[in-house]
Amino acid sequence: MSIPFIDLKAQYARLKDDIDRRIHTVLDHGGFIMGPEVGELEKALAAFAGAAHCITCANGTDALTIALMAKGVGPGDAVFCPSFTFTATAEAVLLLGASPVFVDVDEDSFNIDLADLERRIAAVRAEGKLRPAAIMPVDLFGRPADYPAINAIAAREGLWVLADAAQGFGGSLNGKRVGSLADITSTSFFPAKPLGCYGDGGAVFTDDAGLAKVMESIRVHGKGGDKYDIIRVGLNSRLDTIQAAVLLVKLAAFPAELEARERVAQAYDRAFADLPGVIVPARMPGATSAWAQYTLRLTNGKRDQVAAALKAQGVPSAVYYPRPMHLQTAYVGLGGGAGSLPVSERLSAEVLSLPMHPDLDEATTDKICSALRGAIAG
Ligand SMILES: *Cc1c(COP(=O)(O)O)cnc(C)c1O
Repeated sequence: MSIPFIDLKAQYARLKDDIDRRIHTVLDHGGFIMGPEVGELEKALAAFAGAAHCITCANGTDALTIALMAKGVGPGDAVFCPSFTFTATAEAVLLLGASPVFVDVDEDSFNIDLADLERRIAAVRAEGKLRPAAIMPVDLFGRPADYPAINAIAAREGLWVLADAAQGFGGSLNGKRVGSLADITSTSFFPAKPLGCYGDGGAVFTDDAGLAKVMESIRVHGKGGDKYDIIRVGLNSRLDTIQAAVLLVKLAAFPAELEARERVAQAYDRAFADLPGVIVPARMPGATSAWAQYTLRLTNGKRDQVAAALKAQGVPSAVYYPRPMHLQTAYVGLGGGAGSLPVSERLSAEVLSLPMHPDLDEATTDKICSALRGAIAG
């Protein structure tokens, strides 16, 4: 039997009775769009994250778009985001006619590099073509970005912060959960994310009541007091009630799942910390990770060989991400080309993510560990 990279079947087996019951409740009441489970979930998510407001939506990319729209981001605005991320981060900015400015990442945290961020804000100001508007950090692989430092830079520069926590939801920093660490936080409930539904889903979080109202309106076609009173251009971006029902069950199980992910991460740390040419994910004081991925750096140029050797032993792995955004065909004209963001470029050649999910048992974890140790030695 081959080892799954993410085991949604095991999770469903564990939660089946509750998930089936809640889905059937929706089938019985028939409120498929904005049914009672959606509001119930938003309250539960806001309480979990420690944010005053949560607005669910259709997916994590829309969550980013809704946040940017609510703040009026558009042509002429510069939004600073890491290059080493998933494409949606820059895509949402571009869809609104604004300009992503790609920033390098820190090689230890995989997250936005603060010194490079400050350099690029200064460079955009000096050039005078774009107006710096926002910083969009990403909690890559589940580890929160350094929000206290990023918020301080934003305050100094007159910018606002949109946390792309599609991978980070469930993590925390200095006792505060992701969702309450930036002006607006977005997340995704894509099935493979730490908190995933059975289709597409997303949410935004904020403490700002005015912004929450605007984002709620944008989610449903820019409605005002009633749905035929249209006061702004919006989207059709509601979360399906059935997905809210699934998420209510999964959110209740999430704290224990986060602990299980941390246990797997610690087992991996212990198994690989002393291996030459392998760097385990760095820990950040005061932070917990949602462990969307457990990602090693293989610094001896043998990443692809190691991945092939793992595969031969039935152990799946994945490369997130093989190419940074500033070198993507669609975005290459926006950045400085090869060599301009050296850490992002180097990491895309070094990273390898291992199976990570809360149902990974000790025997399977051990098997993965010995397969990797063998692959490195061989
Ligand atoms: C998954 C992801 C998104 C987009 O989420 P979708 O729900 O797939 O639209 C955005 N940013 C990052 C960093 C992601 O990993």
